[in-house]
Amino acid sequence: MQESKRKEIRIKADSFREKCKVSRYGIADLFKDCERLGYKVLRYPLGDTADLGFTLIKDNDIVIFTNTCSRLSREIFTLAHEIGHVILHIGTGLPFIDNNMTISGSSTNEKEQEANYFAACLLMPDDEVDKFLDLKIADFNKKGLSAMDIARIMSEFNVSFDMALNRLENLGKVNTGEKLKLDNERNERRVGNLLRSVGGNSRLNVPSKEVHIPYEYIDYVIYNYNHNAIPAETLERALACCHLSMEDVGDRLVEHQDDEEDDLDALIGGLSD
Ligand SMILES: [Zn+2]
Repeated sequence: MQESKRKEIRIKADSFREKCKVSRYGIADLFKDCERLGYKVLRYPLGDTADLGFTLIKDNDIVIFTNTCSRLSREIFTLAHEIGHVILHIGTGLPFIDNNMTISGSSTNEKEQEANYFAACLLMPDDEVDKFLDLKIADFNKKGLSAMDIARIMSEFNVSFDMALNRLENLGKVNTGEKLKLDNERNERRVGNLLRSVGGNSRLNVPSKEVHIPYEYIDYVIYNYNHNAIPAETLERALACCHLSMEDVGDRLVEHQDDEEDDLDALIGGLSD
């Protein structure tokens, strides 16, 4: 990627970040920020081997989906990558469907590389990383980083161990040898243990399996049911996705005349006459 393109992406990531709530150095809750900014965010446990996420436009809405079967830190990166597609590529070819191949440093597709770079700049901007290393890591300049320091960075910036390590390498904060050493230390001590030992956010390292569907979509399903556009089974299935039952939304449902049965009764009645 050319430096002029990289700079353009940094500027766009920076201006998106200004609209997000930042805790101290990292974005506190990117999902909430997206909803506040009007994106329709769907989160669903689609399965371990399913796609990681997608972005599309539906009825003028920007819809972003993330699979909650991936570890939370990875899901957050997927979300940041999808935002990258929205900001950089809207009008040039949405939808995008993403999996392990597109959301990785090794993707050779230009648009995927751009979205990955956007995500890295959004989650771990250069200046915030510098500030964190300076203020929060004791003797960084003399001793460099330990795996526990990486866990601290993970917790602050809400990223995975791999993402933190790759970003630090790209920013020139660790060299290839140090990266390898930190990687080995991670394998020995496990990320979950590292996070716990620094009082970090252990939830980052496990899938949330969360189900989150924008309320308008439930309204839409109920509207269709009330107007006889979908059968009760479809409504039930859609509600089940949100852990809701027909009873939960009973006060909003129109009583359905069972037309088919009436017709059948009339028909049988007519035959027996
Ligand atoms: Zn992508």
